[in-house]
Amino acid sequence: MRDEAREVRGFWEGLGLPGLVDVHTHFMPERVLRKVWDYFDGLGELTGGIEWPIAYRADEDERLALIRGFGVRAFTAMLYPHKAGMAEWLNSWAVGFARRTPDCLHTSTLFPEPGVEDYVREAVEAGTRVFKAHVQVGAYDPADELLDPAWGLLAEAGIPVVIHCGSGPSPGKHTGPGPAAAVLRRHPRLRFVFAHMGMPEYEDFLGLAERYDEVRLDTTMAFTDFSERLAPFPPALLPRLADLGDRVLLGTDFPNIPYPYVHQLRALERLGLGDDWLRAVCFGNGARLFGLR
Ligand SMILES: [Zn+2]
Repeated sequence: MRDEAREVRGFWEGLGLPGLVDVHTHFMPERVLRKVWDYFDGLGELTGGIEWPIAYRADEDERLALIRGFGVRAFTAMLYPHKAGMAEWLNSWAVGFARRTPDCLHTSTLFPEPGVEDYVREAVEAGTRVFKAHVQVGAYDPADELLDPAWGLLAEAGIPVVIHCGSGPSPGKHTGPGPAAAVLRRHPRLRFVFAHMGMPEYEDFLGLAERYDEVRLDTTMAFTDFSERLAPFPPALLPRLADLGDRVLLGTDFPNIPYPYVHQLRALERLGLGDDWLRAVCFGNGARLFGLR
C-alpha cells in the first residue's frame, strides 16, 4: 500500500499540484458501512455476474491514514439513507466526524420526509459544506414536493449536492436524467454534482451541465476499466467533456472500489484531455468550489 501512496503522489506532483481534492469518498457510521460492503459483496447478480471486491476494507483510522497518504487535501463523508427517519441520525454522526476530521468537508444528507426542510436548515447553519443524495438507494423521486423547500434552501446557500441519480450500476424507479432535470427547472442555481458522470446516461447529464452553469459532474468510477466494461463512456462525447473542464470534479468512491485508487487517476489521464484539464479536475475546480487554500 505504501507503494501505491508513492504512485498517487507521483501523479499529482507531476502535474505540479499541491495534492488532490476528492469530492466523493465514503465515511459513515461503521455499522452502515458494513451494510454497504455487504451490498457490494452481493452485487454480482445485479451487474450480470461482475464481482465488486472492496479494495480498502479497513477500519476508519486506517482508511483515513490511506487517503491522507495519497495526499488528498480535502475529501467528503458521503452518507445516505435508504429509508425515512434515518437522515437526521446520519447527519448528527457526520457533525462529529467532521469535528474530529478537519480535512473532511462536513457532509450531510436528506430524504423526502416531513421535517426535511428543518434538518437541512440546521445542517446549513451548522456549517455543512456539501450534501449527498442517493436516488437509487433511497428509491425516491428527487422532484418529490417534500424536497422542494430543501432544494431551494441549498440553492440559496450555494451548497453543492452530490447526487447519484444515473441508472448505474443498476436502474432505480426514479433514476435517469428526467427527475433531476425537473428539480433544476425549479431551482436553476442549485449546485447539483452528478455522481459518476451520470453513468450510464452520460450524454443527458452532460447536457444538463451545459444548460445550467452551477451544475457539475464528478468522475467517480467513470472511465475506469471496471466501468468501461459495464457502461463505456462514448468517445464522441470527449470534446464536450473537454469543454466542461471547469465543471468536472475528481471523485473516486474510496474506499468502496474494486481496484486501486491510482487507477481512477490513470483513467482520467488516459482520456488525453491534457494536463490543464487534469489539474482543474483533480484539484482546481474542487478547491475553488469549496474555497480551499
Ligand atoms: Zn459513492
